[in-house]
Amino acid sequence: MRVRGVLFDVDDTLFDYSTSEEVGLLGHLTALGMLGLFPSPDGAVEVWRRIMEEEYARFLAGELDFTEQQRTRTRRFLAHVGRVPDGGLSDEDAAAWFAGYGVHRDAAWSAFPDAEPVLKSLTADYRLGVVSNSSLEHQRRKLDRIGLLPYFGDALVCSEEHGAAKPSPSVFLAGCEALGLPPGQVAYVGDKYEVDGLGARDAGLRSYWLDRAGTGTAAADGVQVIRSLDDLPAALARQAQV
Ligand SMILES: [Mg+2]
Repeated sequence: MRVRGVLFDVDDTLFDYSTSEEVGLLGHLTALGMLGLFPSPDGAVEVWRRIMEEEYARFLAGELDFTEQQRTRTRRFLAHVGRVPDGGLSDEDAAAWFAGYGVHRDAAWSAFPDAEPVLKSLTADYRLGVVSNSSLEHQRRKLDRIGLLPYFGDALVCSEEHGAAKPSPSVFLAGCEALGLPPGQVAYVGDKYEVDGLGARDAGLRSYWLDRAGTGTAAADGVQVIRSLDDLPAALARQAQV
């Protein structure tokens, strides 16, 4: 069956999440005069990322909503450097601190250089969409800001609104449905091996794992490895000939 649609992950696939997170955090800490509380800038980023991974997992599991995980990350991060006042940090203050981070982070929002060229080259031959573990409003705003939103029409599926997160098959299948195609005719491209690569394969899609760092991890059967989005059009064309 020929692939007729391509679904993309957003963060660290089309969008350079890691850089904007780092620049945003360091900018915010510098503005607040807090960077010196950490042994090094890298150390601050490491703590922020570790807390983010843990709290975002709770959001994906449905334990926290999208804004709650932002406040919880803020509280834990400030507690790490002893900056939570006696009696705790109010919801309002936690949200305001996170919003300040968000201003710095959003100023650094950018697409990877290979993102728009690949979307441009695929748009004539494939239906394009997004399946992301996030909230729809947040991802729409982000894709709009980096100029990629028009490529996807209404085919955007996010875990918060869908009610289940990748690697659950249902969210991949909702993406296929948004494209109006069966999973066997849809490719999925994402940067997380287990969540994206194995998740898409197990949902019955053609799975392409984007290994930007070149980790050299050998992919399992049914998962193809690409090192850059530049490699995607040729990989899709090759599969069409098999
Ligand atoms: Mg990702």
